[in-house]
Amino acid sequence: AKRDGRNAYRFFTSEMQAQSARALLLENALRRAQERGQLSLHYQPQFALEDGDQSRVIGAEALLRWQHPELGWVSPAEFIPIAETTGLILPIGEWVLREALSQLRRWDAAGLPQLTMAVNLSAVQFRHDDLPDLVERVLADVGIPAQRLELELTEGAAMDNPTVAITVMNELHARGVRLSIDDFGTGYSSLSYLKKFRVSKLKIDQSFVRELSDDAEDRAIVDAVIRMAGALGLQTLAEGVETEGQLAFLRRQGCQAVQGYLFSRPLPAEAFAQFMLARTST
Ligand code: C2E
Ligand code: CA
Ligand code: CA
Ligand code: CA
Repeated sequence: AKRDGRNAYRFFTSEMQAQSARALLLENALRRAQERGQLSLHYQPQFALEDGDQSRVIGAEALLRWQHPELGWVSPAEFIPIAETTGLILPIGEWVLREALSQLRRWDAAGLPQLTMAVNLSAVQFRHDDLPDLVERVLADVGIPAQRLELELTEGAAMDNPTVAITVMNELHARGVRLSIDDFGTGYSSLSYLKKFRVSKLKIDQSFVRELSDDAEDRAIVDAVIRMAGALGLQTLAEGVETEGQLAFLRRQGCQAVQGYLFSRPLPAEAFAQFMLARTST
């Protein structure tokens, strides 16, 4: 038993070593990723649900992609946490903001309808003193009105320090920028905070949407979130919509907007523009 215990311990540490070796490798590679042009954005369309079975593209969510020559595509779920602990998320996040808004300008010039751009914010960026001014500066540089930018902040990041969150939200709101709460339902925001948060939208987490067809509890949760949001004057957008059944349920409950593979995967900018043009020409 003693020997087993020691083996288990050794196995554990070597696995930990492998993990931290990979983390170190990624960290070093990530430091150069931006200057080497390995970062790009994909865009996933967001749809407003309209009368009948109509839907209309109202915006795009910018999603960061990293392609490394040897490591291949590295998932944001793996590299964003590394970018956060190293502080690299600050320059990378600024690049994402600038690039996404510049893309919006290019789509405008190409004749696409006026969309809003949703950009994900890390808690690290959110806590940084300079964020409201930085956002204002980038908007001015690129020439996009603040109303067309929507910043997505996870519920966890907002609840990390609600007092700070309220201050930053107020500062962004004063500049005309809209905020949404991402992954809503996975954290534990108290309803009293939700009232104080300057947000305009709740993004219902995909974990609830996934099981809508066979899980009565998830249906009840989604229904309750949509009703509560309505009562608080907030919009709802359901993420990860993959089936017609999920869409029908969300429509019936009065969810205003959706996003998911049923409509489109996240696309490179050029493919997104083609997706838009194909929709308007039919
Ligand atoms: P998120 O913000 O919750 O983004 C939604 C994720 O779900 C994206 O994964 C998207 O590709 C995926 N998705 C969209 N529709 C569907 C669907 O119908 N089914 C399924 N199964 N998945 C769907 P992705 O692009 O891998 O991003 C993962 C996470 O990485 C994001 O979750 C976000 O938290 C983070 N992230 C991505 N880009 C950025 C960024 O620029 N800044 C920061 N701070 N975080 C980012
Ligand atoms: Ca998001
Ligand atoms: Ca989300
Ligand atoms: Ca997420």
